Amino acid sequence: MSAAANHLPAGFQLSQHSLSTYQRCKRRFWLRYVQRQPWPMAEGEQPLEYQQHLQRGVIFHRWLERAQLGLPVDLQVNATDDPLLQSWWSAWKSFDYALLPHEVLLSEYPLTIGLGAYRLYARYDLIALQREGRAVIVDWKTLQAVPSLKTLRTRLQTRIYCYMLACAGNILTQGAPVAPERIEMCYWFANEPEATVYIPYSRANLEDDRVLLTELAEEIAGAPEEAFTKTERQEYCITCAYRTLCERAGTSGSPRAAEWLDEDVDFALDLERTPAVDW
Ligand code: SF4
Repeated sequence: MSAAANHLPAGFQLSQHSLSTYQRCKRRFWLRYVQRQPWPMAEGEQPLEYQQHLQRGVIFHRWLERAQLGLPVDLQVNATDDPLLQSWWSAWKSFDYALLPHEVLLSEYPLTIGLGAYRLYARYDLIALQREGRAVIVDWKTLQAVPSLKTLRTRLQTRIYCYMLACAGNILTQGAPVAPERIEMCYWFANEPEATVYIPYSRANLEDDRVLLTELAEEIAGAPEEAFTKTERQEYCITCAYRTLCERAGTSGSPRAAEWLDEDVDFALDLERTPAVDW
């Protein structure tokens, strides 16, 4: 049976992760963000390598969160015998904060803005800004491989994070707007810290993103249930929790860990912080 169009209630919360998911697999968006289906994949069914990488990512982000709040972390770091986690940590310790503006420094900062009839939510790893100067959004990435600059520039995360900061940055500056051309997105990679990239934003980007995001929200809201189809890229299914439900449990190949890792790490962390979080 088809769901009626406009099935997203007014005020429905979209997010960086939910919109990125929609772009890659509409079915996953439907199951996870509309139906709120509990994850049917039993622990242990996920590819071991992915599970381990996910757990490491969660632990690492917990450490960063504590460290950025000024809380001690050395006890936890010294207690781990995972060499990869230790190497990520020592890479992060070498991150040069002097390269960032530092009048306002906010870690794990949640922001919500309006998007037409809906809301758009993102949680930032770190926002560093000068009230009259640069505003840098830092994202700590634990991906196994560094994506190309083109991929990073065009990925929805870059567009949404910068767009939202340009729209609502005045909250952080006690009134002064944050002009889009002052905003940069910084991706730092735990596995390749020397590959850190800074991506500038602009007013033209802001206008493009406003159109893109509004159209995306309207497309989702107006689509019937049957439009939320399974992805044709079956390699995405290998690490997706819904693969049994989608009858894709037998999919084999090389897991595309990067596809869901950010979302799964943030989901696990959001559950810890706010058990009833509205994704
Ligand atoms: S298993 Fe595959 S088709 Fe099903 S929701 Fe996940 S990614 Fe989409």
